[in-house]
Amino acid sequence: MAEEIIAYRFERLDQTLSQLNQENCTIIAGGTDVMVLHKSRRGVPPKIPRPVVFIDHLPELKRVYPNGKDLHIGACCTYSELLEEPLIPVALKQAIKTIAAPAIRNRGTLGGNICNASPAGDTLPLLYVYNAKLLLRSVSGERTVGISDFIQGVRKVQREPNEMLIEIILPSVLEEGTQVVFEKVGNRNADAIAKVSFAGFIKTNGDRIEDVRFAFGAVGPTMVRSLDIEKMLYGKTIPLAAADITQVVSAFEKRIKPIDDQRSTAVYRKTVALNLLRYFLSLKPKQSY
Ligand SMILES: Cc1cc2nc3c(=O)[nH]c(=O)nc-3n(C[C@H](O)[C@H](O)[C@H](O)COP(=O)(O)OP(=O)(O)OC[C@H]3O[C@@H](n4cnc5c(N)ncnc54)[C@H](O)[C@@H]3O)c2cc1C
Repeated sequence: MAEEIIAYRFERLDQTLSQLNQENCTIIAGGTDVMVLHKSRRGVPPKIPRPVVFIDHLPELKRVYPNGKDLHIGACCTYSELLEEPLIPVALKQAIKTIAAPAIRNRGTLGGNICNASPAGDTLPLLYVYNAKLLLRSVSGERTVGISDFIQGVRKVQREPNEMLIEIILPSVLEEGTQVVFEKVGNRNADAIAKVSFAGFIKTNGDRIEDVRFAFGAVGPTMVRSLDIEKMLYGKTIPLAAADITQVVSAFEKRIKPIDDQRSTAVYRKTVALNLLRYFLSLKPKQSY
């Protein structure tokens, strides 16, 4: 016989936060990670050890709006909704199109991808290079935290049990003059978990690089990004000299320490990750992105 679990679905955000303050609950947005995490054997409903609270219907978590040059994205926007939203950057839409199949994209949310903190979460490399900030709220108030501080390890995030992720903020993303790329290597073009993923961001003034960022997914417990290595390219002109590209690639070679698992080998992951970086650094911005 199926076990009973307590499930809450409050009409308002303040009621939801108040419940989370009284009781440690499992938050369910789309449920596409939660249900897999707690799955039982075939034919038996998932066993979730705590009461669950549904949040996917709350209007405050479904909005996408600009604030100056920043873009605010509600944590419970589903992938399918984001694909229809004109303000969402093209690179993020490209990443979303590689996630699962339409049925999962109709349920899965951006906030869920972040809070699940999988090393292979497909939106994460991009959110790292966008310097995404996360707006968290509890009954005690709000705080904003950078994504690289929020995600602390495999499925480990810096969230208090009474807090909810409300919005993802992409600073200055609506500004002109930046190019962003996303690449995912998996067994298929979609409906496959990444063996390696990569996001690159570049902002130039004429030929001079003003800002450049890159992040790798699925090659470590969290996304791999290095501000020190990125700074090596500030002020350089594009196309980059071969020596500059080699210097950056070799610096990353020491930082990337992937593992062997059922999806790929460490050697393959490292080789592909460095090739993606080399490819990104060899492109001529504006002409090729
Ligand atoms: C068949 C299948 C294929 C998949 N393919 C991919 C893929 O290709 N790429 C990929 O990246 N992922 C993939 N996933 C994983 C999953 O769909 C995504 O990670 C999705 O974004 C999770 O969103 P969700 O709303 O369903 O999260 P949920 O399962 O509802 O929640 C995930 C975690 O985040 C917490 N949480 C959710 N929202 C909030 C919030 N607002 N505040 C605080 N905590 C919150 C939950 O408590 C839970 O711990 C796949 C899953 C399945 C089942």
